[in-house]
Amino acid sequence: MKVVLQNLTKIFPSRDKKSNQEVVAVNDFSFEIPDGKLIGLLGPSGCGKSTTLYMISGLQKPTSGKIFFGDDDVTELSTENRGIGLVFQNYALYPHMTVKQNIMFPLENLKGKDKLTKAEKLERAMSAAKLVQIDELMDRKPNELSGGQQQRVAIARALVKMPRVLLLDEPLSNLDARLRLQTREEIRRIQKETGITTVFVTHDQEEAMSISDMIVVMKLGVLQQIGKPQEVYDDPVNLFVAKFLGTPPINVFNGAVKEGKLYIGDAAVLETPGVEDQEVTVGIRPEGFELEADGALECQLSNVEVMGRDVSIVTTHPASCNVTIRSIIDADCKVDVTATSVRYNLKPHKVFIFNKETEERIYF
Ligand code: ADP
Ligand code: MG
Repeated sequence: MKVVLQNLTKIFPSRDKKSNQEVVAVNDFSFEIPDGKLIGLLGPSGCGKSTTLYMISGLQKPTSGKIFFGDDDVTELSTENRGIGLVFQNYALYPHMTVKQNIMFPLENLKGKDKLTKAEKLERAMSAAKLVQIDELMDRKPNELSGGQQQRVAIARALVKMPRVLLLDEPLSNLDARLRLQTREEIRRIQKETGITTVFVTHDQEEAMSISDMIVVMKLGVLQQIGKPQEVYDDPVNLFVAKFLGTPPINVFNGAVKEGKLYIGDAAVLETPGVEDQEVTVGIRPEGFELEADGALECQLSNVEVMGRDVSIVTTHPASCNVTIRSIIDADCKVDVTATSVRYNLKPHKVFIFNKETEERIYF
């Protein structure tokens, strides 16, 4: 089921009567979610991810704009009638019910032609439970399950009505690191097996990058960039997106373009043909540095961390906007740990420059 968001806007009235400052939680958001894909809705806390998800679900009504499921305008449709499955961060299971009863619960109130017999309900619950691999635990109560298992029950409960669209709001945030990794792989598998169009909300860029067909990056209610995870990482439209994606994060410098060359401090580090002379912000991915004895950019060496396959070199530079610069190089490259400085050449496709004021990307 394709989902189309058309100029979606959500304005909350002021909570503080004195200031009367309304909150534009989602601002003119337009986006088409292709059928059967998993979309990662990504951005820092408070940027409007949940509000967007709740509007898709019908829990919140847009101030303006429209939502379509396929060709159907569902903007005015109630949550129950949209055919969605919702999973939240806190699993919200009924503590007094067994796993089986929890999963079957959404089927209890079906009416008219949708009404199911007891046997049909049980069958549906079993197949949802099998999908998330908790069919052995059907008679337990939620407090007899681990966090990961509880979240699986919540996912089974969301799937049991065979939703047209699955909506997940930070579903892994309450799990410990190992379970988070395992459960996100599970969610990906289930999504692929069922082919249900899925929106996965998270503030964790690594999580979004690892499981999404496409990521949608938001900031302050405004859509910044949409694309395949790798494409957005390789080609960010602005400094915000460049900084938000990647671990370790991108290294940011003050720089300047002069006569077709990019300068960091006094060093001309790259050709930037066609770019007008101006001060710029420079972003260099950690993997964008190459150690060279006569490299253009000299940085003061602070530390070398050996991490098996890679070596992480921590340096400083007066033009750096961060306290330290972190480069990742192949472990085969030998670093003289006793040296006071290292020299780098830069890989051009790993260097981005941005307008100093607008922070928009300058292409070269
Ligand atoms: P996210 O899920 O990305 O953390 P939210 O969608 O929850 O962000 O919130 C976006 C913005 O809208 C925030 O500034 C938040 O404080 C505000 N907001 C969310 N819900 C309400 C509400 N019911 N009333 C007033 N403001 C709200
Ligand atoms: Mg949220």
